[in-house]
Amino acid sequence: MESDDRINIKQNLLTVHKRIEAACHRVHRPPQDVRLLLACKTVPATHILLAHHLGERLIGENRVQEALSKIDHLQIAPTLEHHFIGHLQSNKVRHALRFATCIQSIDRLSLVRKLEQELQKQGRSLDILIQVNTSYEESKFGLHPDKTLAFIRQVSQTDCLKIKGLMTIGLFSSQPEPVRTCFRRLATLREQAKQLNLPRVEMETLSMGMSHDFETAIEEGATMIRIGSAIFGARSYPDSYYWNEEEEEK
Ligand SMILES: *Cc1c(COP(=O)(O)O)cnc(C)c1O
Repeated sequence: MESDDRINIKQNLLTVHKRIEAACHRVHRPPQDVRLLLACKTVPATHILLAHHLGERLIGENRVQEALSKIDHLQIAPTLEHHFIGHLQSNKVRHALRFATCIQSIDRLSLVRKLEQELQKQGRSLDILIQVNTSYEESKFGLHPDKTLAFIRQVSQTDCLKIKGLMTIGLFSSQPEPVRTCFRRLATLREQAKQLNLPRVEMETLSMGMSHDFETAIEEGATMIRIGSAIFGARSYPDSYYWNEEEEEK
């Protein structure tokens, strides 16, 4: 007999994959062009493993501490790929590098310098995405769109960071059009960044779209969508709690 959790996660995954396919179909994109990242904040390792058994391989965590508390349990799933999608404090860089193969939330030079320093020490490189604040909301992290290209240029001069693309969190709105504008802004920036032809800058990934807006994101070119609640159910804390870990951890 299957547990309720298993049934729910399985059903939700099926639904999400169907919706991804339908959205791709509408804009004539092959569904395999869109990677599904499971946003796993507050999700216990057992549920992540359930999703993994159902074929999912890419997960994202928002908090370093929480991610580290799960890694031991997730070791039986070595093919899981862990991305970091939350606001990263510079003093947590070393801990984040214990599990993350990609950090999607690069938005300031102090963080870039800290990462570069640590990676030099460890003799390795890291995939990153540049986070852009496409909604211009003060509450959100990410670079101002007007500053993004200059920032990418600077990051491209480091040795260990490989820029794979851009990430954004769209405007929270029940209206699809202002949200769409955010996603278009990110897609445009990617095209402009590509044209800079910089070393170690590939710009293939557009990480945008969450449970409430992923179909719009796919229509606007997302290559990676980050879904949490539509798969694992509603969370009991507001998202702002996970985007700002300043007070919580030292
Ligand atoms: C929580 C989170 C998501 C997923 O949010 P849902 O609305 O639960 O799908 C995506 N991206 C980031 C950065 C998040 O923090």
